Amino acid sequence: MIDKLVIANRGEIALRILRTCRELGIRTVALHSDADRDTKYVRLADESVCIGPPQAAESYLNIPAVIAAAEVTDAVAIHPGYGFLAENADFAERVEQSGFIFIGPSAETIRLMGDKVSAISHMRQAGVPCVPGSNGVLPNDNQAVIETATRIGYPVIIKATAGGGGKGMRAVHTEAALLNAWRVTRNESLAAFGDDSVYMERYLEQPRHVEFQILADQHGNVIHLGDRDCSMQRGHQKILEEAPAPGIDPDTRSRMGACCIEACRSMGYRGAGTFEFLYENGEFFFIEMNTRIQVEHPVTELITGIDIVREQIQIAAGEVLQHTQEDIQFIGHAIECRINAEDPDTFLPSPGTITQYHQPGGPGVRVDSHIFNNYTVPPFYDSMIAKVITHGESRERALTRMHGALQEMVVDGIKTNIPLHRRLVTDSAFRRRPVDIHYLERIRRT
Ligand code: ADP
Repeated sequence: MIDKLVIANRGEIALRILRTCRELGIRTVALHSDADRDTKYVRLADESVCIGPPQAAESYLNIPAVIAAAEVTDAVAIHPGYGFLAENADFAERVEQSGFIFIGPSAETIRLMGDKVSAISHMRQAGVPCVPGSNGVLPNDNQAVIETATRIGYPVIIKATAGGGGKGMRAVHTEAALLNAWRVTRNESLAAFGDDSVYMERYLEQPRHVEFQILADQHGNVIHLGDRDCSMQRGHQKILEEAPAPGIDPDTRSRMGACCIEACRSMGYRGAGTFEFLYENGEFFFIEMNTRIQVEHPVTELITGIDIVREQIQIAAGEVLQHTQEDIQFIGHAIECRINAEDPDTFLPSPGTITQYHQPGGPGVRVDSHIFNNYTVPPFYDSMIAKVITHGESRERALTRMHGALQEMVVDGIKTNIPLHRRLVTDSAFRRRPVDIHYLERIRRT
């Protein structure tokens, strides 16, 4: 029985988790840094604990401080949200060793999936299609690296085993550029993730990013909640997502869903998780698994009617999944725009005080956001300040509603990417059909 839960995160996801807890009658403890003292989720939580100074390394990433806060408040469980400690296996382990329930899979699963090379090799064994690649970490040997690239065929992409957040990867188009790119990616990876191991994959030139949401309980029941298309990206980071992924026929969806379910069974997965694929010429290639709630989970919630955070908490509490695969129906279409405090052209962060905020509304419009009038966006964290999500009976309708919502939305005092989203949802090519992962970068250059 979970009656009190620590939210080890901030921003919109802290508020999102809090709202579901309130519905479930679970008391909440908001953890916050000095910079997040005056926030909506801290005010709305039953209790709050300041865990350190603004810098994430000393607050939201400070494992002893998070555990101590759970201890002093007598909480039962810890929800890590996304980012920060959500995919830190050592954290999950410490949480459980300290006697708390971690809302997520086991530390062992997080470790297996967090290392992209071990994740890919597990998926290959489980029969999940993967991108042709180096089948493991590249050895520290120039000749072997050249031979691997020749075998895979150019272009290739060098990726950090420990990579995340779109960082630590580099495409290589010719042999002449290979060794230098390999060295640079290793150095970057060492600096960013403390690990210089990298692997190689074929670089797909026009794929879409299509991912599957799954839920698995502790009793062997696993279901999928369909797919999402997250191809609209800048610098390998998603900014607009939709569900279902357009153009995937129901049979393919069931087949790929079943493949993900099988892979979950083979690793004894528990909780919510996402299988990310690149999709090109009708073929799926697994790239990685995320063992946590995703930023884009609301689009799946809107088309399935399932509260994924609620499912996560109930699964962690040991309950049996209440839904079977046959119960899951996909109704209509949903779109999400990530609103960031950033310059819409250069993407440079734009923290500061919001002098005026008007939230959009109306039928089929959901806004997940922690901001309000006079809220100051701190410079220390991710720049996302809101997610606008719309639902309609068709993709066209969801896009039209999104256009209306974006026209209505006002965020003054800081720069945001709302103008970019307005341009995207009216872009004629995108309105006709889903685009590939490089589309946004191509249209930015024109
Ligand atoms: P991260 O963990 O940093 O999110 P991913 O492996 O999920 O890294 O890849 C993020 C994005 O990078 C993908 O959505 C895609 O845009 C691009 N990408 C990754 N692997 C490839 C590949 N083999 N070919 C082309 N693009 C890729």
